[in-house]
Amino acid sequence: MTALQAHPGPNGEGSTVGERLAACRAAIAHAARGVGRDPAAITLLAVSKTQPQAAIEEALAHGQRHFGENRVQEAAAKFPALRANYPDLRLHLIGHLQTNKARDAVRLFDVIESLDRPSLAEALAAAMAREERRPDLLVEVNLGDEPQKSGVMREAADDFIAACKARFGAALIGVMGIPPVAADPAPHFAWLAACARRHRLGVISMGMSADFAAAIAAGATEIRLGTAIFGARPAAA
Ligand SMILES: *Cc1c(COP(=O)(O)O)cnc(C)c1O
Repeated sequence: MTALQAHPGPNGEGSTVGERLAACRAAIAHAARGVGRDPAAITLLAVSKTQPQAAIEEALAHGQRHFGENRVQEAAAKFPALRANYPDLRLHLIGHLQTNKARDAVRLFDVIESLDRPSLAEALAAAMAREERRPDLLVEVNLGDEPQKSGVMREAADDFIAACKARFGAALIGVMGIPPVAADPAPHFAWLAACARRHRLGVISMGMSADFAAAIAAGATEIRLGTAIFGARPAAA
């Protein structure tokens, strides 16, 4: 965590989105170099849930291109208009996806990170066929095996990932996970990174504001930051 504290921004300092974004990038680069990794191998996902379009535009103006939203309807209201000016924008779904929203999600998102059960795999496969659009997919693992949370349980993860690989082929690009709140995140990050390696998946989405240095040390290729970039969320998400 020292790598993180050496820079402002990820802890809430900085007064504009541009300043905080720059501080986050610096902190990521510092954490990466500290463990001998290339900062360019780590994608910063700006989590813009509940943030207004103006804040997203400010991030876009400062070069940010990957955004994460956790609700289909909210993302549908904010992003299509922005795509016209930023064709290289990449929109990621990081929240729980209901099967009845699968088609909307396939239409809207470039990456769906919350594939966590066979019924959703089924719904997404059908939606991809109908829409003739194939977003990239990540399997979400429930790292703490917490029944109230999303994600496939760890003991079922290998079989589920293998089944998704057979069904989706190259569209399955990685895994995503959130460690349990009070736990040391390091062993959870190590578990997820090993899981990705076992299945030869290149994308490992793990690490948030409080623990991204540990995630980078464990091999994260994508970290997800919300409040560190945008400040406090206007409403609970
Ligand atoms: C909200 C959210 C984040 C970002 O959280 P912050 O605390 O705002 O950095 C990251 N990942 C997921 C899945 C989220 O829902």
